[in-house]
Amino acid sequence: MSILDNLNDMQKKAAKLVEGPGLILAGAGSGKTRTITYKIAYMVKEMGIEKENILALTFTNKAANEMKERIKKLMNENTADMQVSTFHSFGVKLLRMYGSNIGFTSNFNIYDTDDSMSIIKKIIKKLVLRNELTPRAYLAKISKLKEDEIMPEDYEKMVNISINANREFYDIYKEYQDELKKSNSMDFSDILYYTKKLTENKRILPILQDRYRYILVDEYQDTNKLQYAIIKNLASKYKNIWVVGDEDQSIYAFRGADISNILNFEKDYDNVNIIRLEQNYRSTSNILNLANSVIKNNMTSLGKKLWTTNEEGKKIVLFDAETPYQEARYIAKVIKLSNRNLNEFAILYRTNYQSRIIEQELLAEGIKSQVYGGLSFYSRKEIKDLMSYLILINNPNDSVNFERAITNPKRKIGAKTIADIVEYANKNNLNYIEALDVNNTAKLKEFKNLMEYLIDFSENNNISSLLQEIIDKTEYLAYIEKEDNYEDRVLNIQELYNSIIEIEKNNTDLKLDEYIQTISLSSSLDDMSDNSVVKLMTIHSSKGLEFETVFLAGFESGLFPNSKSLEDENEIEEERRLLYVALTRAEKELYLTYSKSRMVNGVTIYNKMVSEFFYDMDKNYINHINKIENPYKKPASNVENFNPLKKIKNDSKYKIGQIVIHKSYGKGKVKKVDDKAITVEFSVGEKRIAANLADKFLI
Ligand code: ATP
Ligand code: MG
Repeated sequence: MSILDNLNDMQKKAAKLVEGPGLILAGAGSGKTRTITYKIAYMVKEMGIEKENILALTFTNKAANEMKERIKKLMNENTADMQVSTFHSFGVKLLRMYGSNIGFTSNFNIYDTDDSMSIIKKIIKKLVLRNELTPRAYLAKISKLKEDEIMPEDYEKMVNISINANREFYDIYKEYQDELKKSNSMDFSDILYYTKKLTENKRILPILQDRYRYILVDEYQDTNKLQYAIIKNLASKYKNIWVVGDEDQSIYAFRGADISNILNFEKDYDNVNIIRLEQNYRSTSNILNLANSVIKNNMTSLGKKLWTTNEEGKKIVLFDAETPYQEARYIAKVIKLSNRNLNEFAILYRTNYQSRIIEQELLAEGIKSQVYGGLSFYSRKEIKDLMSYLILINNPNDSVNFERAITNPKRKIGAKTIADIVEYANKNNLNYIEALDVNNTAKLKEFKNLMEYLIDFSENNNISSLLQEIIDKTEYLAYIEKEDNYEDRVLNIQELYNSIIEIEKNNTDLKLDEYIQTISLSSSLDDMSDNSVVKLMTIHSSKGLEFETVFLAGFESGLFPNSKSLEDENEIEEERRLLYVALTRAEKELYLTYSKSRMVNGVTIYNKMVSEFFYDMDKNYINHINKIENPYKKPASNVENFNPLKKIKNDSKYKIGQIVIHKSYGKGKVKKVDDKAITVEFSVGEKRIAANLADKFLI
């Protein structure tokens, strides 16, 4: 009897190759994650490798927790001393242990996207800008630079010598980073950036290499440059590195993931064992065949052949609704009529905002649902407000949380006064509570007394009592009483309180900074244990998961593929991979739904059509619930075979060397023409434009 008995031969082979580098390159549902999980249990139980020598990395908290649970079951012993986590949690752990070597104290805070955004908003307000972008766009630009390891000081050098950088953006970037530093905080990109720095430190690296001798990475196709480098540095001594992934499921290019990391793995190490898995265990053959018919349209796909011995199963249902409400009601009805356990259903969508109507209609049918990812529990206003007090008590130097606490509940302390306090603190090297002395008004005094009282209280009481005290003393409930969803908010606060009680049960001596550290990276919904709910999530957050029945909502033109992607063949391919991920989450039943009208940015758009990707699909596996009208004004009989994204013949009117003018990029020169795309060099760089759409964008 071996732990590996439940693997097929190829999986077994991969699991047993423990020393040296290896790669499992295989399609969805072929057991990549299962193989890693079994491999780890095998290494510990049957090879006697120490648990603390193993490092397993994956992408979401949910995936990490699931993997940990499964390993625990297989080994039948606890996994506390084994590092199975996301890259970010792993990074945070290392930085708390060794950060002092690169200038951080171990109690640094983590700023989430919202926190970062509020800093940027403040900076924008302060600086007078010529070309203002949205705060989100600035933040994206900053993350991108950090990924390329260009910090403000490096960027400044670029400003001085090159045209690819500008002073205005430098000012924002510099101020943003200074602000983080002052608050002893890191944003998500910093965590990876500084973790990479740690793995370059001559003193620290050997310690880490000896500790993490065996490295395993799931979803390797989505690693970005920093993650890639971290793994490479850690693995460079023992070279026991196994990565698994699927180039057809690479969906994070917009965040810097680089598909070539997986394709080049062979070149990075000598004697790489490459294992391909071709049997899909997850889905019915109808679902698998449909997914295959989609992904084969991608030029970047290596053309894996996945097969299954699973049953044929039901046909895939396509449903077109008049409105998003009708679409959601249809989904609710199918779930209701099935009489099955709610945890067998997942509803996936391209963009977050789609969840609201679906949630609402499910609720109307009495169906419980839960949104994963998206606005996580800890991102809700009432939770962030209360957390800001806890964080400020723990670290009175934290500017974002100081500003949040002092303005929630409202205390009639104006922005100007707050700016004065901040300035006064910075000038005189005071923390923000001390700096409340900047003027002598009753309101500031009152807030100062309150905070000093709470800090005092925190020294002699546990965290749940402290939370209670904060709620009482700030009269927080009275403050939110007038807001929308008051009851929900109170329930959330109750939930926060419960979660602290729960942690205190296991850790009676829980310290405030310890607590803040543990929650700052988790979004509680990732760990939701309530299983009898329908799960709602974006396709991005569904990666690696599987569900008996999957609904893909909003399968319509303009929404999916995202209309912005249509200009660029690379982006269409990324959207197509995203669709492939969505389809391959389904085990038994799959529904594609769309609506002919939808409100986008406050304007309702009518006459919407089914997704362009519908024309990639082999119709043998699809059953229409209601007839699709002729969406592309082709003869009706042709509709099902017409594919607006499909190859056009290579008799393009565009010729190499020709000068063209693009509606957004301006003048450019045609570099390459093939049957799928036209490559044009613009002043902003080279762009690929889908051949059949070129006429729309080029004049
Ligand atoms: P994805 O690309 O979506 O992440 P994956 O390749 O990681 O998929 P897994 O999630 O590991 O695939 O496996 C898919 C399903 O098939 C799981 O339910 C898993 O338990 C099952 N499975 C995989 N291999 C086997 C096997 N040899 N015997 C029985 N079931 C298997
Ligand atoms: Mg997987």
